[in-house]
Parts: sequence; C-alpha cells; structure tokens
Amino acid sequence: MPSNIVVVGGSVAGVQALQTLRASGYDGRLTLVGADPELPYNPTPLSKELLTGEMDEDDVRLLVDEEYEDLQVDLRLGTPAQALDLTERKVHVGPSRLAYDGLIIATGSEAVRPRGWFDLEGVHTLRSLDEARRINQAMNSGSPSVAIVGAGFIGLEIAAAARHHGLDVTVVEAAPSPLQRAVPAALAAPVVRLHRDSGVRVLCGVGVARLVGSGRVDKVELTDGTVLDADLVVVGVGARPATGWLTGSGLALDDGIVTDATLLTSAPGVYAVGDAARWTGPDGRTIRVEHWTNAREHGRRAALNLIDPQSAEPYAGVPYVWSDQFGQRFQLAGTAHAEDLYFLSGSPEDETYVALLGDGNKVVGAVGFGGHPRQFTKARRLVTAGTPWPEAIGQHQ
Ligand SMILES: Cc1cc2nc3c(=O)[nH]c(=O)nc-3n(C[C@H](O)[C@H](O)[C@H](O)COP(=O)(O)OP(=O)(O)OC[C@H]3O[C@@H](n4cnc5c(N)ncnc54)[C@H](O)[C@@H]3O)c2cc1C
Repeated sequence: MPSNIVVVGGSVAGVQALQTLRASGYDGRLTLVGADPELPYNPTPLSKELLTGEMDEDDVRLLVDEEYEDLQVDLRLGTPAQALDLTERKVHVGPSRLAYDGLIIATGSEAVRPRGWFDLEGVHTLRSLDEARRINQAMNSGSPSVAIVGAGFIGLEIAAAARHHGLDVTVVEAAPSPLQRAVPAALAAPVVRLHRDSGVRVLCGVGVARLVGSGRVDKVELTDGTVLDADLVVVGVGARPATGWLTGSGLALDDGIVTDATLLTSAPGVYAVGDAARWTGPDGRTIRVEHWTNAREHGRRAALNLIDPQSAEPYAGVPYVWSDQFGQRFQLAGTAHAEDLYFLSGSPEDETYVALLGDGNKVVGAVGFGGHPRQFTKARRLVTAGTPWPEAIGQHQ
C-alpha cells in the first residue's frame, strides 16, 4: 500500500477519493492540491439553486472544515499543480515539489472561452463558485437583459434561473436544436417548449458574430444580422479536460488523461478520475464524460484500486446525467444517439416522457423528462443490465 498519496483537483472526484482512502483504512500521508482557493464545493447547484436563491454558499460545500481535519488531509488550496515529474514522482506546485508514491489526478474540465469575448465586462462562463457569485450579482443588480450562448445543460439551466428572476432572456445556439450533444432533436423538443412557454427566447441554427460594447458588453450580434441587447452574457459552449499542466509530462493524453479500465494511467501508481479521465470501457473503446455521478464513482474506484492494486477492479458505471430546469428534471443514462427508440410512457408531444434507446440488439440508453421518476429508474436498470431489446420491449407490452 502506498504511504504518501497526493490528490490533485479538489472537487467531486478528488474529495470522494480522499473520503474513500480514509474509509478503506489508508493511514498514510494525504495531500489535496486544488487550484480553486475555495473549500471544495459541488458545482451542480451553481447553475440551479445557487442562482435562484434556493441554496446559499454553505449548502454547496462538499465537506466542512472539521471533516477535512478528521480525514487528516493536508489541504493546499488556491495552488494549482503546474507540472508532473513522473521520473522523480513529484508534483510541481509553485516552488514546492510534492513527492508521492500514489497520485490521483482529478483536475476536471474547464470552460471553452472563445478568444476576444472576455475582454468586455459582463461576459462570463460558469464553472466555479466565484463565477456563480459574479453572475448572481449581475442578475440581481438592475434588470439586465441576459444572453446565453450555447443551449447545453448549463446554458439552459442558467436561462431558467434568469427567468426565475423575471429577466429578459435569449438563448443562442449554433446547432439546429438545443442539447444536441446529449439527445436527438425530437427528444429535446419538450425542453425547448418548456423554455419558450416560460418566456425564454430560444434561437437555434444561428451563431454569434461578435459581442459589442465599450468596456462592458451591451449587444450581441448574430450571424444572421440579428442584434440582441445584452447586459449580461453567459457563454456555455462546452468544456475541455483541464490537462494543460500535464503537457510534456509523458502521461498519455488524448482529449483527457488516457487510462485503462481500472482508471490507471500510463504511469505506475498514477490514476485519473472524473471529467479529466478518458477511461477504457467494457467494449475496449475509450470514453470521457462530464457528469457528477461518474466523477464520484471514479473517485471511489480509483482510491480502492490505488491502495490495493492486486485486487484492482474495472470501473463499470454507465454514464448518467440529470439537469433541472423550471422544476422539471431531464435525465439521461447511457447514450441517446441510437437506432431504436421506444417510449415507455408519454412522448415528446406530451409534457413528460420516458424513452428507451437500443442499438439493434440491446438497450443502450434511457431518457426521461418531467414526471415518471420510477419508470426512469426502471429504464436506467435496463441500460445498466444491457437487457436485450426484444425482452425490454416485451416486458412492457
Ligand atoms: C455549473 C455546473 C452544473 C452542473 N450540473 C450538473 C448536473 O446537473 N448533473 C450532472 O451530472 N453533472 C453536472 N455538472 C458536471 C459535474 O459537476 C462534473 O462532471 C463534476 O464536477 C466533475 O467533477 P471532477 O471532480 O472530475 O472535476 P471538476 O468538478 O471540474 O473539478 C476539478 C477541480 O480541479 C481543480 N483544478 C483544475 N486544474 C488544476 C490544477 N492544475 N491543479 C490543481 N487543481 C486543479 C479545479 O479548480 C476544480 O476544483 C455540472 C457542472 C457545472 C460546472
């Protein structure tokens, strides 16, 4: 068992790794290196309850101070890791060189920031608590017109929060329909309807030509010539793995840190977890997702594998993500881009539905929107079990 473990990245996956290590009897040295100066927090409410005011900052902390004391963790927050020396087995943090004999990398993902847009004040991305604070402040001062660029989960959640404050909101999406990375247009239709019925202007198939303002943003010019008034612009056009600090380290990178099925990277004793990891799935293909449940389960699995490599187990979770907008929950397990589609209940023409997706053989995905939480849970189980398609449909008919 290692005796000097360093965890880099203090969020969902990193903190779960710390807790699992101690809960599993690891009693050696434990250090957490985090770029964010804040005590670690859960990012998922930042675009939801924290913006609507249903939660405050205390509610989003993953652990309180005393819990870190109980875990006996040397917390190094506000100090990004800058480089990794695999030969010396050291993490470079400012002038310090932190030695490790076990390392878990949990540096997550960072927002894509189109060049030039952020020279103007009033333009934000949302990944950190500090960014959420600034967006919150902007939403609560005066009555700003809000433009959201990108209709992914985070963009749509922020749009819903802005409407909660009664603000004028426009969502601009370059793709023909919202949530395109997650689901086909037909399955996104009720989400779009909900936004439009709630007063959000949703413009699809059009891009942003430029942001206009002197010092501070006041207009967004679109590629079709439309000009939007905007005092607050939030850009949610995707994320990429936060692995810049590993360039040149020799660790295998490919849109994420490449790992085997047990989350072990190309270097001995070094594991990668959460949004930053591109792991090898049961079918031998690599996969990277940006979902909370995956980050937590990765943190746990990597911690167990690191302290007992002889019994290392593959990570076997099926990707799952949820999103809350206007009090309605959207859920996706597995993949929604598949050839077979069957509705267990409702349909996209209704307010709610639960759909199964199949690859011609077995169930590979489940999507739910609105009510029917039990039915979605059942559908998710069919995905996890890889239930043969005819059997899954037959059970229901
Ligand atoms: C606003 C928002 C809402 C979301 N809502 C949902 C949701 O509803 N459902 C869902 O399933 N998922 C949601 N997600 C995604 C989910 O939060 C992420 O998948 C999850 O947080 C990933 O956890 P992680 O620990 O891998 O990485 P992250 O949460 O990205 O954390 C990485 C941490 O590493 C730190 N770091 C980065 N570089 C360095 C470095 N060089 N040195 C040290 N530290 C570093 C960062 O500061 C950060 O604290 C949401 C994400 C955001 C931002």
